[in-house]
Amino acid sequence: ATPTALLVGTGRGAQLGILIKGPEVLESTRRVDTVVLDKTGTVTTGRMTLQKVYVTEESGEDVLEEDVLRLAGAVEHASEHPVARAIAAGAAERIGALPPVEHFESVPGKGVHGHVEGHDVQVGRIHDGPLPEALKAAKEAAENAGYTAVVVARDGVALGVVTVADAIKETSAEAVRRLRALGLTPVLLTGDNERVARSVATAVGVDEVIAEVLPQDKVDVVRRLQAEGRTVAMVGDGVNDAAALATADLGLAMGTGTDAAIEAGDLTLVRGDLRVAADAIRLSRRTLTTIR
Ligand code: ADP
Ligand code: MG
Repeated sequence: ATPTALLVGTGRGAQLGILIKGPEVLESTRRVDTVVLDKTGTVTTGRMTLQKVYVTEESGEDVLEEDVLRLAGAVEHASEHPVARAIAAGAAERIGALPPVEHFESVPGKGVHGHVEGHDVQVGRIHDGPLPEALKAAKEAAENAGYTAVVVARDGVALGVVTVADAIKETSAEAVRRLRALGLTPVLLTGDNERVARSVATAVGVDEVIAEVLPQDKVDVVRRLQAEGRTVAMVGDGVNDAAALATADLGLAMGTGTDAAIEAGDLTLVRGDLRVAADAIRLSRRTLTTIR
């Protein structure tokens, strides 16, 4: 491949809304056979909104939805996570001012905890005790419908479940069709629950799902696929995705994502349009064909 021909490909990339780190990047896309898609912020918009609050009499007969929302909102107020922002904003909107939180701590890929009104409050997937039947059923039904559901526990007892919605981008299904048309196998990767991941995957036409992966383990998923002999492109937007983007044979960062992801990627999809991932791979193949 001559540098000049590759640079022509790079210029065309800019027209399509693809920023390419260096012309040599295009070469690594040639053998890509697997495209790992981060769920939140890549396949979905990542702009989450509070949906429902579930409580059950088993949690204590005097526990109200408002209590669950107040405690969860207070702790989540201290977190930057998209789930946290949806819960804190939704709680403030529905019940007004939230109490302060002390001893706040966030556990990446799991949730948050802290002290509110003299109680130890956990939100997310931190609580690992039994869930009352009614809460378990509500949580699973919400997850099967594609909602992220988190458990709110007070002093170690599950009080309720809060669900948040994250819309699938209008362009995601078309993007998956285009990737498949290029002979690529899409894989959905997320820290979220398996049922939520399946629901989103089905909606956009992806069969392979790798869910409940901790932020620091996403890079291991890429390495494992590579060890199977696959050549992996990774598309992501989050701080969590940076190591995986850097390790993938080709890293594609959403331009709408975090700086960490953009720095780690080989290509940036400027408008955050996943369809352009397919354009990028097609472009690089065509560029290389022209050169040969
Ligand atoms: P993703 O891979 O979708 O970006 P994360 O790895 O950040 O997700 O989080 C995985 C899961 O951990 C979330 O789906 C949620 O259930 C839980 N979680 C993480 N952070 C929080 C939080 N601040 N509040 C509640 N739950 C959380
Ligand atoms: Mg993401």
